[in-house]
Amino acid sequence: MTDKNLRPATLLVHQKTDRDPHTGASTVPIYQASTYHHAEGKAGEYDYARSGNPSRQQVEDAIALLEGGVRGFAYASGMAAIGSALALLKSGDHLIAPEDLYGGSWRYLNTVLPQQGITASFVDTTDLDKVAAAITPDTRAIFLETPSNPLFKITDLRGVAALARERRLLTFLDNTFMTPLLQRPLDLGIDVVIHSATKFLGGHSDLLAGLVTTADPELAKRLKHFQNAFGAVLAPFDSFLLNRGIKTLKLRLDAAQANAATLAARLAEHPAIDRVYYPGLADFPGRALHERQATGPGAVLSFELKETTGVRRLLERVRLPIIAPSLGGVETILTHCWSMSHAAIPAATKQELGIRETLVRISAGIEDVEDLWEDLEQALSV
Ligand SMILES: *Cc1c(COP(=O)(O)O)cnc(C)c1O
Repeated sequence: MTDKNLRPATLLVHQKTDRDPHTGASTVPIYQASTYHHAEGKAGEYDYARSGNPSRQQVEDAIALLEGGVRGFAYASGMAAIGSALALLKSGDHLIAPEDLYGGSWRYLNTVLPQQGITASFVDTTDLDKVAAAITPDTRAIFLETPSNPLFKITDLRGVAALARERRLLTFLDNTFMTPLLQRPLDLGIDVVIHSATKFLGGHSDLLAGLVTTADPELAKRLKHFQNAFGAVLAPFDSFLLNRGIKTLKLRLDAAQANAATLAARLAEHPAIDRVYYPGLADFPGRALHERQATGPGAVLSFELKETTGVRRLLERVRLPIIAPSLGGVETILTHCWSMSHAAIPAATKQELGIRETLVRISAGIEDVEDLWEDLEQALSV
């Protein structure tokens, strides 16, 4: 059992359990079992793997410890985590969400929740007045992402949390881009924190996983009930991989963030680039607010090319980054949001939101930044 006052790098390595309680093994093993013996007919700590599994428990305890929650939940993907967390809502409820959010979340809120009688309004959550104006008698929750994806708009978490408390609304925050190392939303008054652990927490682009935590014991009880009832749980092997990724999060994120800062500064000076979106840049709108609620700008940035032809050239020429819809891996990942991460959003809506065809997102990896820059520079040159 780890003292939760230890510093983050130590918590990441030791988590709540840093060895197998039964054998002393240096890692909690992959408990590849679907069910558990009921000695003398009585259930022990574990009874059936959908309800609980020691490998999964390890990462569920870790996310609660890292975010300051009472209890954690691990799911088969980030979307399974989002869907399972939003099961706190019921038919007839209305939800407020940001305009530019992860494409998969946009799809879920727009095409799945309405079938269950839950509707969403998409507003610019960086403007508290617009959030307040969108509240209707049926509004029950506000779903947030900050920085937003892919335009890095910054929402005032303390401000929205205070408004939500006053109006008795639940707040959800997708903290995937920041990780608990850079932003601890529960401390700022957010009710439920969600991660696509597929990204930085897993960190090696080798698994899908989602995590949820809350500081409210009553919400935790309801989340637990739904997790067991619905069953979108994280498998033992994936729990093991995620646990292993979490241990090195600080080293990876520090290195990737430093690379992102260097790339952002150099891209901002590049003649082929119109604009760079990164909360670490001195003149970036929202930077001061971001710094009041997070301890670093993160390792992801977007940039806008001056010409559409430049995008094609860049995607054809870059060698080091993997070109894919993801982020948070040890390797640099380049995403053409228009056709990949935000493909689910109709073209006209993307245009309205400012997600243009010339926009490219980079999730900096932990390679040598000079190699990354040389590669980007040759791919950007005319
Ligand atoms: C990837 C991602 C998700 C979805 O996670 P999956 O693990 O792919 O299901 C949700 N939110 C954000 C911000 C993401 O980047």
